[in-house]
Amino acid sequence: MEQKLQSVVNTLTKKKKPRVVVLCGAGISTKAGIPDFRSPETGLYSNLQKLSLPYAEAVFDIEYFRKKPQAFYTLAEELYPGKFSPTKFHYFIRLLQDKQLLKRVYTQNIDTLERIAGVKDEYIVEAHGSFATNHCIDCRAEMSSEELKRQMDDKASGGIPRCAKCKGYVKPDIVFFGEGLPARFFDLWDDDSEEIDLAIVAGTSLTVYPFASLPAEVEANAIRLLINKEHCGDFKQNPRKTDVLALEDIDEVAETLARLCGWEDDLRRLVETTSNDDESDTSSNIDEAKVRSEAIASSITETETKEETKEETEESADIEDLSKQLSGLSGIGKQGKIPKSDQ
Ligand SMILES: [Zn+2]
Repeated sequence: MEQKLQSVVNTLTKKKKPRVVVLCGAGISTKAGIPDFRSPETGLYSNLQKLSLPYAEAVFDIEYFRKKPQAFYTLAEELYPGKFSPTKFHYFIRLLQDKQLLKRVYTQNIDTLERIAGVKDEYIVEAHGSFATNHCIDCRAEMSSEELKRQMDDKASGGIPRCAKCKGYVKPDIVFFGEGLPARFFDLWDDDSEEIDLAIVAGTSLTVYPFASLPAEVEANAIRLLINKEHCGDFKQNPRKTDVLALEDIDEVAETLARLCGWEDDLRRLVETTSNDDESDTSSNIDEAKVRSEAIASSITETETKEETKEETEESADIEDLSKQLSGLSGIGKQGKIPKSDQ
């Protein structure tokens, strides 16, 4: 592995002002205790059944939310960030920022762990939105997360956050079925894609579009590093001579990279000083919070690429069902093309 990573390490440590872009997905958050939806114990399916929805994906359907926001807010209790701590890989991204090497991190995750690790807003693109900001669905007025949480917790008043201006329902800016991806995603990628020396693709099987098309758009003079359990996407379909594959544990690769760059202590310090939750807390929450945001986001994957993942879909009919029902989360699963939103 160390041998394989050499060109990456050279870019990070020897090249003058290298520009690094990180493209990531569900896999980087599994070590945080956020279960992969493929794990049968996630409880997502049964939790959704309890909500008596007309169909499961309604929970992330903007039109259904307009009529019955209770369903989403019941689930949001379990999804809400704060129960989990960033992984070593999240801190590795932070380290790239601190070393002034990070151009941007594009994440499919809605768990905000990049932010919690200390990556600044300007460097983060949450392609599928997140819980970090909230807006009224009618007049678009913004609501702070503190206020949103306060109203969620105010069960006497129904627990549904309402706009102070127009009384419309307020929801976190997670991309729902029927909504487009954030304009920021398209705008920044247009520029970023031309200015990359190293693209680190981590924890994503590259099946959710348009996100999955990003690695192919990285210019030929850049090095692409894939850190994932399996060889996938453009790395598999259109391999480049300079591609680096690290098909291993993501946190271990992050540690190895840090060590090879001579940043081992920096990474350890970041993990130690930035994590405020103790380990026992984090692990006990794993069972409690069975439904996790990233797990849902990643479930979109399956619907989009049934043909490519036949062998996986045979694993379990339930998983297939689950992903079908949840494909609406970001409005990506069902549509071939994503409309650009002005969100
Ligand atoms: Zn409003």
